[in-house]
Amino acid sequence: MSAGDAQTHDHHHHTAAGNIGMAFFLNLSFTLVEFVGGWLTGSTAILADAVHDLGDSFAFGQAWYFERLSLAGQSERYSYGYRRFSLVGALLSALILTGGSVFVLVQAVPRLVDPGTPDASGMVVLALIGVGVNLLAMLRIGKTEGMNARLVTLHLLEDVLGWAAVLVVAVVLMFWDIPVLDPLLAVAITLVILFGALRNLRSMLPVFLQAVPEGVSLEAVVRDAEGLEGVRAVHSAHIWSQDGRQKVFTAHLELERELDACAYTELKRRIAGLVRRHGIEHSTVEIEYPGEVCRITEEKKEEEP
Ligand SMILES: [Zn+2]
Ligand SMILES: [Zn+2]
Repeated sequence: MSAGDAQTHDHHHHTAAGNIGMAFFLNLSFTLVEFVGGWLTGSTAILADAVHDLGDSFAFGQAWYFERLSLAGQSERYSYGYRRFSLVGALLSALILTGGSVFVLVQAVPRLVDPGTPDASGMVVLALIGVGVNLLAMLRIGKTEGMNARLVTLHLLEDVLGWAAVLVVAVVLMFWDIPVLDPLLAVAITLVILFGALRNLRSMLPVFLQAVPEGVSLEAVVRDAEGLEGVRAVHSAHIWSQDGRQKVFTAHLELERELDACAYTELKRRIAGLVRRHGIEHSTVEIEYPGEVCRITEEKKEEEP
């Protein structure tokens, strides 16, 4: 995003950050109500949903924090800006959800054998609030535009279904004495949480390891670069991503002949067009003229004994 873009979107960013901040505080307050409610009613299913909502609160808090950070842009120390901070956030989120899941399983698994008697009417009240809160949030976000809003709506639908399941179990428990249903539902909800956390973690690992991002081919970019007029070969080419979305390309270009200033500018213009076509936002390219020894191979030779 250029400086001009940042200025025109400034107002939009402020309101977006405000909305996310609001969602964060609402979600966090409701999560606290759930933990206390789960403890008071003795329902492990509600505790499981509380862990899920703790994860949601963390996601909102993280989005809110980064929305504000991204307004600040890059700094002297964090010269790339704060894109990579979202990776740290994803890692923390996975740790919180895994820790929370272990906590719920420790509570729920022994109750599969020896179920207590959860307070069914208390559970009904909490489940009704849960369905209501998530349904309201879903209807509100459903009206906004954009890919992100659609994903959030889908997620909130999952949350509504989760609370509906708690409601069904609570109503059944009011009329029949099948207390094992509560820990069973808790284990089911926890497995869904764990599966999601592990899936997120797995998609983050290649970004940590600076793998070539999905949806772009290093081979194709190198082939296109070698197809540029005056380019003999390409080496030391890398494509990686800071946050899993934005892509960075670096390479050395060996030229067939020396270029004057005008041809040099034209080559740079073509490289810029090439990387843009491949969806790469940021590129750094080193030029080598015929007969020039590559700095990298030279440094390697010096390191060898
Ligand atoms: Zn959720
Ligand atoms: Zn080189």
